[in-house]
Amino acid sequence: MLKNVLFEGRNLTINLTSNATLLNDEILEFFAEHDIHLAISLDGPKSIHDRSRCFANGGGTFDTVMANLQHAVEKYPDYAHNISINMVMDPSNSYDCLNEFIVDYDVFKTAIPHASPLDMEYSDQQKITSEQFIIENTYDHFLAYLHYFRRLKLTQIPFLAQRDIESSIRRYEKHMKHISSLPDKTMHGGPCIPGQARLFVNADGDFYPCERVSELSDSMRIGSLKDGFDLNKVKSLLNIGQLTAEQCINCWAINHCGTCAKKADGGVCLSAENKQKACWSMRQSVENDLRAEIMRREIKGGILK
Ligand code: SF4
Repeated sequence: MLKNVLFEGRNLTINLTSNATLLNDEILEFFAEHDIHLAISLDGPKSIHDRSRCFANGGGTFDTVMANLQHAVEKYPDYAHNISINMVMDPSNSYDCLNEFIVDYDVFKTAIPHASPLDMEYSDQQKITSEQFIIENTYDHFLAYLHYFRRLKLTQIPFLAQRDIESSIRRYEKHMKHISSLPDKTMHGGPCIPGQARLFVNADGDFYPCERVSELSDSMRIGSLKDGFDLNKVKSLLNIGQLTAEQCINCWAINHCGTCAKKADGGVCLSAENKQKACWSMRQSVENDLRAEIMRREIKGGILK
């Protein structure tokens, strides 16, 4: 369907993110006809979702979104498998209420929810993680480990914990299998090849590496439908390791660091200073992953093939 020469001959999967308030039959039929995957933003139960997702008149959008989602799943069962739910978790709320919400509605058996933490990267405000969120989230992670060590069936653990197993436990275990020593040449991981694995195109036709970066940031804009890719920008995002080469060479976490180019977003240009602000929490996260890996190996009797 796209006639742009940039995409000719390539297999494209088109994903569209929407708040689903205007979703109707005409739009759904168009999406189904052109195989467009739809991610619907839905942050949890009404009491949570309506706090931040409102109509211009201030009213919450929850009831409309749920009604449109229900309609889409019932009327277009074949297409409905291309619908997913983008759930942004606000850590100041309860964690368990999200799991309860997911099991309360049959619609989520088809439109699968994916939860990710609220991203405060481009905000001046701070979100405080509630004690309740930490306790519930840690306990669910513990249950995920019980499944991993075959003490619980997958169906016995909460939905979001099931996804923890694939997204963190197994991913890190796989990553660790391939590391035995530092290579002669290296840089930290994190940046993808911008525009290759995924490409975010906004309503103006501008290109960004993904939907998580700011559309207001010139350093993240890597081209447009009109002008094609700006390869210099692509290269600078891919090589953000060079921004802090000296620090990275001397950093114990370099082999496990996953600092994304977004961390270096300085608005008009990339910023080494901004990037370094993320180093403490990145090293903290690597340390936690290493502890978890040691724990797994100890429990498995040191046998990890
Ligand atoms: S944590 Fe910071 S200094 Fe260490 S490798 Fe990552 S980006 Fe470089």
